[in-house]
Amino acid sequence: MIPLAKPYLTEDEAKAAHDVVLSNWVTQGPKVQEFEEKFAKYVGSKYAVALSNCTTALHLSMIVAGVGKGDEVICPSMSYIATANSILYTSATPVFAEVDHKTYNIDAKHAEQLITPKTKAILIVHQIGMPADIDAFTDLCKKYNLKLIEDAACAAGSSYKGEKIGSHSELVCFSFHPRKIITTGDGGMITTSNEEYYNKLKLLRQHGMSINDRVRHSSDKILFEEHVLVGYNYRMTDVQAAIGIKQLEKLDWIVQERRKIAMQYINALKDIDCIELPIEAQGFYTNYQSFSIYLKKNCNVSRNDLMQKLLDKGIATRRGIMNSHREKAYLDLGYKDYLPISEDAADNSIVIPLYVPMNADDINSIIKEFKELLL
Ligand SMILES: *Cc1c(COP(=O)(O)O)cnc(C)c1O
Repeated sequence: MIPLAKPYLTEDEAKAAHDVVLSNWVTQGPKVQEFEEKFAKYVGSKYAVALSNCTTALHLSMIVAGVGKGDEVICPSMSYIATANSILYTSATPVFAEVDHKTYNIDAKHAEQLITPKTKAILIVHQIGMPADIDAFTDLCKKYNLKLIEDAACAAGSSYKGEKIGSHSELVCFSFHPRKIITTGDGGMITTSNEEYYNKLKLLRQHGMSINDRVRHSSDKILFEEHVLVGYNYRMTDVQAAIGIKQLEKLDWIVQERRKIAMQYINALKDIDCIELPIEAQGFYTNYQSFSIYLKKNCNVSRNDLMQKLLDKGIATRRGIMNSHREKAYLDLGYKDYLPISEDAADNSIVIPLYVPMNADDINSIIKEFKELLL
């Protein structure tokens, strides 16, 4: 069986976790601080704040951006459901924008049409690692005085116009779930160069506590913490951070290897007339967190039949990116949006296996089956 995805974890990560366990400092502490400093340096931002996952990173980003009851936040429906949920957590309303058919990324023109006096922010998603057009949204947010938040859950190691994702705007949220590019089991990170956001995020993730454990324990004077606002427990642990530090060292290599496999797929499948392959425009550099193929109307096999036939041959696949507005949770809230491009893309795309390391026989057998079923 060829799986869809596999994290790249080695003895390095196992040893790092082992050492933290035996150090007795297992919750947020020195390893979290080290991971944050290294991650900020890697993306080129001033600060990074480690969190329990990307969903909590998005939630806190909404809060520091000032999103709350009565506000609207524009985002794509076509994304993992956590994107839209993070807006609902603040009692604000997600307003769903269409995506571009070729990149699955949020369409700036449609987003602009959805702006109302209630709009507070735009939450863009770098879809399965492919950067959205950040400059277009930076301009739009300036023009209408809105906050920009980036859901970069899948985009660690991707870049836009020569700079790493995480360096362009003030609230960029990453995920370290095993299905993403690097993993800490679960885990998340916000990168920012805004000092005010940085300080508020650190308070919010740890119960609003004015002094964190690491500082208190290393002080030679007695210190008493205060709780200055109603915060959360959204901490990352030092066990996770130690794994993350090792993963970060491998990130650029993992992305390069993923891109080599993606190029093999593209070269082998580009002549099949009934499919569309991922397109990387000038200035956009993707980590290929997923490799999604769109099936055109002239395909002689339906998407679901193709998935079943590949499964019969021992190849795992998944549907393309979901649409949040079609899930029961959102239908129950009264969402009925008709987003033809998002819906068509979700219904007619298939994600094929891509992980590191992937052996050549497996890559070749996926290519062979695809050609047999579609040519
Ligand atoms: C995975 C994912 C999330 C959620 O990340 P977690 O770390 O699992 O909370 C949010 N947005 C997108 C686009 C994702 O792919």
